[in-house]
Amino acid sequence: MRKNGLVISIDGTAGTGKSTVGKAVAQKLGYGFLSTGELYRALAYKVYEAQLLPQDGAAVLALAQRLTFTFVRQPDAVLKMHVDGEYLGSKLHLEEVGNVASQVSTHKEARAVLTEKMRQAGQDGGIIMEGRDIGTVVFPDAEVKFYLSATAQQRAKRRVKQLQEAGEHPDYDKILALIEERDYRDSHRAASPLKPADGAFIIDTSHMTLEQVVETILEKISHYAA
Ligand code: C5P
Repeated sequence: MRKNGLVISIDGTAGTGKSTVGKAVAQKLGYGFLSTGELYRALAYKVYEAQLLPQDGAAVLALAQRLTFTFVRQPDAVLKMHVDGEYLGSKLHLEEVGNVASQVSTHKEARAVLTEKMRQAGQDGGIIMEGRDIGTVVFPDAEVKFYLSATAQQRAKRRVKQLQEAGEHPDYDKILALIEERDYRDSHRAASPLKPADGAFIIDTSHMTLEQVVETILEKISHYAA
């Protein structure tokens, strides 16, 4: 048994609502929430800033080893991340940073470095961790595991709506192409490819509201003692 409760993993492709759902579930349980894509996005951002090539595995690894990550739990459950003492904020959420993140995340050695940071952040439990390989690699011993899926078209539609709400004028076809490209890379890479963990509850969210997904997850968790 862990000090602060369960480790709960939520894996799946981009745009299945993992972050929104994970955060809502964490708030209900009084747990922390970590979106692990933030670490890959931060690495991607730093790679870009240092003008390194995302394909250069040795340079990406050296940079990953130099970075210091700290996490502080916020009142809304989110573990706020500082990289080398700096909060990178919305810069990490640009579509292009996500794309470079999926390139740097193909390097096995750099993944091992970030995986270790995630384990340190979550080992005491009382945490929901969202990503691509949490139930398979980071915490194969997580007490409860989930895998969320949705069609690429549905996810592109959601992303377009999100961007429109933020006052932007997104191009559906371009967004869909980026999503399909990222899915392909994430699920075909040799290092920790995206796939459901053994024993994970698989939830197809294509035709569910976020509230329904949250309810489904809470119901499953209620069968496990913290
Ligand atoms: O989830 P998010 O879109 O923020 O993740 C950005 C990228 O980071 C993903 O496309 C994926 O390539 C990588 N990632 C990963 N393993 C994780 C989390 C994210 O490889 N656990």
